[in-house]
Amino acid sequence: MTAEQGIGRARHTPVVPLEAGAGPGNPPCPACGEPLFGWIDDRPGLAGPVSRCESCGLGVVGEPGGAEEALRALDRIAAGQAATIANRGGFSAWIGGAGWSGLEGGAQYLFTTEAVRRLVAHRDQVVASARWSPGAGIAAMWQTILNGFTFGRNVALGALGRSTPVPAEKPWQRKLDGLISVVVALPVLLAAVPLELIAAALRRGGAISLRFELLQLKRKGASR
Ligand SMILES: [Zn+2]
Repeated sequence: MTAEQGIGRARHTPVVPLEAGAGPGNPPCPACGEPLFGWIDDRPGLAGPVSRCESCGLGVVGEPGGAEEALRALDRIAAGQAATIANRGGFSAWIGGAGWSGLEGGAQYLFTTEAVRRLVAHRDQVVASARWSPGAGIAAMWQTILNGFTFGRNVALGALGRSTPVPAEKPWQRKLDGLISVVVALPVLLAAVPLELIAAALRRGGAISLRFELLQLKRKGASR
């Protein structure tokens, strides 16, 4: 590659500091305050276009709101001091894009471990552990690939009561979606399992179980 070609390529991928993107069209991320950027256009079943934070990875559907709102959404999926998140930083979200299973009906905040870490810090909590959740991760990868075959989204997980589906518009499409989901369920599972295992090995699993703890102010060993 000549120097000139190199410059030509560089011109196509300008490097801009994240702060330069802040503005009315790029409101701050509720978790970390960096500007949000557009990710997925408005589509049926979602409250608005989806934006994402390039810093902590949080995804936001519609209006971003603030940290408190995002924490309330986190508490709705939490059980005590633990929560399992659909990982927006996971491999399934990356390959799925608009077809990612995490974009279920009514979704508002799409978490990553880092986004949760930033959010719970607002109330003096830390993420004590973050572990890949194999069952939920494989299910997410499975449904994400299935979404590539159907008109609606999350039809299979919805039927199993594991997600809020976004049904197709027309009755014949919904009927076909049910049939397609059954026919391709097993072959897709055979692809989803190894893909999610690879994702988990690369720390890009599709579902992460998090445990929170109150921040312990460690005075022992503090220099003074
Ligand atoms: Zn962020």
